[in-house]
Amino acid sequence: MLVQKYKDMLSGKSVIRQLSEFATARGQEIGYENVFDYSLGNPSVPVPREFTDRMIHMLATKEPLELHGYSPSLGITSVREAIAENLEKRFGLPYRKEHIFMASGAAGALAHAFRLVTEPGDEILTFAPFFPEYHPYVDLTGAVLKVVPPNLENFQINFEAFEEMLTEKVKAVLINTPNNPSGVVYSTPTLQRLADILREKSKEYGHIIYLISDEPYREIVFEGVDSPCVSYFYDNTIMCYSFSKSLSLPGERIGYVAVNPACEDAETMINMCGQISRGIGHNCPPSIIQLAVAQVLDKTADLSVYETNMNILYKELLDLGFTCVKPGGTFYIFPKALEEDAKVFSQKALKYDLVLVPGDSFGAPGYFRMAYCVDTEKVERSLEAFRKFVKTEYG
Ligand code: PLP
Repeated sequence: MLVQKYKDMLSGKSVIRQLSEFATARGQEIGYENVFDYSLGNPSVPVPREFTDRMIHMLATKEPLELHGYSPSLGITSVREAIAENLEKRFGLPYRKEHIFMASGAAGALAHAFRLVTEPGDEILTFAPFFPEYHPYVDLTGAVLKVVPPNLENFQINFEAFEEMLTEKVKAVLINTPNNPSGVVYSTPTLQRLADILREKSKEYGHIIYLISDEPYREIVFEGVDSPCVSYFYDNTIMCYSFSKSLSLPGERIGYVAVNPACEDAETMINMCGQISRGIGHNCPPSIIQLAVAQVLDKTADLSVYETNMNILYKELLDLGFTCVKPGGTFYIFPKALEEDAKVFSQKALKYDLVLVPGDSFGAPGYFRMAYCVDTEKVERSLEAFRKFVKTEYG
């Protein structure tokens, strides 16, 4: 008999994926260039040339057995060393290779982090608006994801609701800054207060409440925005990083877990990741990709297009009468829809070939997400469709 829980998931397919599939199908009818597809967070700028050059060089000069052999279960030692050194240089925390575990993207890193610190039935708290894939990521471990309602004023943390929900059952708190879908970056006061509460409650409950920090957008921060290092605030932080967005490498599935050197049992936790891998199959990310990213740790794709697009869209949305928190990073914006039901709103937008994702699955009904990882030229052309949509439907 097939397992029911996976069968049940078939009817709860990701709204983002569904809209993206719609955009592709519509593109076949009218040309994809005419579909203003803001559905999927797939980077729109190429990987830096240096990465490709390093790959070509390695393929031309290194032993195939080294490039294509199994990686050690915790990741290639020299790669872990390079990442630790880079983190220490950037953030001033004494990372060593013993604190780094190579994983297949942020998804792979999170899969290990959840299993490190929760047993089935334990709770993990996260904050709306949140990345909807957190549900399958957590639910399938047996832990329970609970979502703290949003702070609609600025999409920082709703501390009142958080403190109410932070019961003894909570073993980990999951944050994502810069945030998908809001684009908001958690401020120093937010992270400070969060850390203070976690310290106090860990003490009161007699167990550590871990902070799992999902950071695939760490490098995409806009001018003048302060983006503090989460691990700096709280010792028991498990950073989950991905090169998917910063290097435009989502297809290569590469990232890492970095346990704060000050975290109790940090080295044991990294060794445990190697054991978790044995069960979940997220093991040994491709050797050649590990070796290549280690050579470009200070590089990113040309991320400037995202800020350009954000500025264009933010201005236009305000001009059209939308309420919107200005993103500090990522390639997402999360305005309030012009009617209560964002699903109806986004359905109407499709008539104008605008593909907007309703905020319900992000834990913020009444809002919608735009992933503006698209060419600026297309963003500009989409403005006319936006004006027509708003005037016709809500004018
Ligand atoms: N976390 C967030 C907030 C994301 O937006 C994504 C991807 O879009 C992921 C995790 C998964 O990232 P990866 O592709 O590196 O597994």
